[in-house]
Amino acid sequence: MAMPLTADKMLAALRNEGLDVAEYKSWRTHNRNHKGPWGTVHGIVIHHTAGRNSLDLCYRGTGSLPGPLCHTHLAKDGKATMVGNGRANHAGTFARNAYDAMANERKVHPRPDSAEPVDGNRCTYGIEIENLGDGEDWYPQAQYDAAVRWAAAICRAHGWTAQSVIGHKEGTRRKIDPKGPVGSADGAMWDMDRFRADVQARLDAKPAPAPAPAKLKPVVDLSNVIAAARRDPGLRQGGTTHAADVKLVEAALRKAGYLAAAYASDGSYGTATRTAYAKWQRALGYSGSDADGVPGRASLTKLGAKYGFGVKS
Ligand SMILES: [Zn+2]
Repeated sequence: MAMPLTADKMLAALRNEGLDVAEYKSWRTHNRNHKGPWGTVHGIVIHHTAGRNSLDLCYRGTGSLPGPLCHTHLAKDGKATMVGNGRANHAGTFARNAYDAMANERKVHPRPDSAEPVDGNRCTYGIEIENLGDGEDWYPQAQYDAAVRWAAAICRAHGWTAQSVIGHKEGTRRKIDPKGPVGSADGAMWDMDRFRADVQARLDAKPAPAPAPAKLKPVVDLSNVIAAARRDPGLRQGGTTHAADVKLVEAALRKAGYLAAAYASDGSYGTATRTAYAKWQRALGYSGSDADGVPGRASLTKLGAKYGFGVKS
């Protein structure tokens, strides 16, 4: 028993699948629930619009077939737009054998019987994919991929397999959609078994591991280090002024080979550290008072660039 997704859950599912989703007008309360039942849901139906610029048409519908005409409209560029939430006029009636294959996730989706006793609008989600449906208008790859994501998102949210997805033409003999080449004018014609395989591949793929949090580069405060370089040599041995900043500088000087290990992490900018820093300054070409072991912005920035810290003042 699958209760239909709420508007918020539908949006979250689609966006989690990487779909670019917009919301059209009052889609959250736009449905045909006053005309018939909605849910429980047992499948997903793929349609083509058989027209151009059909977004508003999918929302409004026509005099004889009021909207919403689907749940989601899919533009040529892969942009998905929600137009309905609830019962929608997208599927009409279905053959029993087609419904059974979808609802029971059978591997084979038989040619639909001519009798259509099943209310398809009650039990399925529908997407209208912008395409003329003339067999020549082609589905750009981005649009096809978005359709795969859309169907996979709903399958994932309900715990369904891709066998819950059918083309409209698989539910009824009255329809031919979806139809047309995929990827280019010469592309292979839209094939529902291929589509289901692509949806299933998405469902089966292990979720991408969460990216490791970016290691933040530590930052050394220039004015703190200058203050320490001036004050610490006059303190008792090991006395500190801004130990955290100084430790980063000391570690860099140690890696550069200018500071003995014994002094490399005490956080005290004592005489040994000043001497080591002066060596770094001379290595950069400074001399005299520019190589007195008190950091300047240029030398400290270069040290940080080489040994992994940033500098602020
Ligand atoms: Zn259709």
